[in-house]
Amino acid sequence: MFQHCIFCHGKLPANDSVEHFPVGRRIAYDPHRGRLWAVCPSCTRWNLAPFEDRWEALEELERARRDRGRVLSSTDNIALVQANDVELVRVGKARLTEEAWWRYGQEMLRRRSRHRVLRWTETAALVGASVTTGGLLYMFGGNILNNAVRYQKFGPVAWQGETACITCGALLQQISFRRSKFMHLTRDNAGTGLALHMRCGYCRSERRVGEHQLEGIVAEHVLRRVMTYHHFHGASESRVRAATDYIDRIGSPDALARDMTRAGLRLDHLFSSERRTHAIALEIALNEDAERRLLEMELAELETRWRQEEEIAAIADSLLTPSLDPIRPHE
Ligand SMILES: [Zn+2]
Ligand SMILES: [Zn+2]
Repeated sequence: MFQHCIFCHGKLPANDSVEHFPVGRRIAYDPHRGRLWAVCPSCTRWNLAPFEDRWEALEELERARRDRGRVLSSTDNIALVQANDVELVRVGKARLTEEAWWRYGQEMLRRRSRHRVLRWTETAALVGASVTTGGLLYMFGGNILNNAVRYQKFGPVAWQGETACITCGALLQQISFRRSKFMHLTRDNAGTGLALHMRCGYCRSERRVGEHQLEGIVAEHVLRRVMTYHHFHGASESRVRAATDYIDRIGSPDALARDMTRAGLRLDHLFSSERRTHAIALEIALNEDAERRLLEMELAELETRWRQEEEIAAIADSLLTPSLDPIRPHE
């Protein structure tokens, strides 16, 4: 089995989850044509596996994809699938259901376990301190470490920039996380993106209706930031499951974002405990949307790469094994 990339001579990383092909964190394969490649992380070229190493590995990869694989993104010709510590680039037509939002669900669970560790550390320290303060310190405790970590990561400001009130022209230059919950979320005027609205303080004191608006990519960015801030503690597995089921029922992360913003929504209502599942679903949807766009670009590149490498593999295989048919009947 090779350990170095034949193109750039960089070391190919090992994996722990594919017994018959323990090389490469990203493995490309085509079960119909019987091709198998280790993708080099440095130069992104595909290293064709020796002919005799392929068959058991191909079977194992298809099994892993079916049993543990999560489809991150797919086109008609190619799918990117996560299976434990390897990413599979599976070539071939197959109806694979994308479970893109599953990835972000994992992120929620990771946050949750970090939150627990911090809580535990803090509680242990406070119990010790309470012995001397008679329990007083313990009463104030609970989230000090978590909030400190969150403050370090986000700071106090959700948005900074300049936007004029549509009525009086007064400028708003920042929105703190504390005040961010008073924003209203709607679709923008064109109906294609998000908009966030904040009531104008001057107009309010003059009993007029006025507001500041953030739209498009800025609104999306601010909303993602505010939601991640509010959900810094993550969510339980059952909550993530309920949220992804909700996205499933509506159809797609994008449809969910459209559905929830259609009627307009004040963020503090969204963050109330009754709507927590919806709020988690919206955060997942917003992030998936951004990540999906990146994945689609990546997949287009992978497809181009596959066409080049497949051409080389077809020649290499026919030269090495002129008497063998490299195509195995599909199972
Ligand atoms: Zn390489
Ligand atoms: Zn105003």
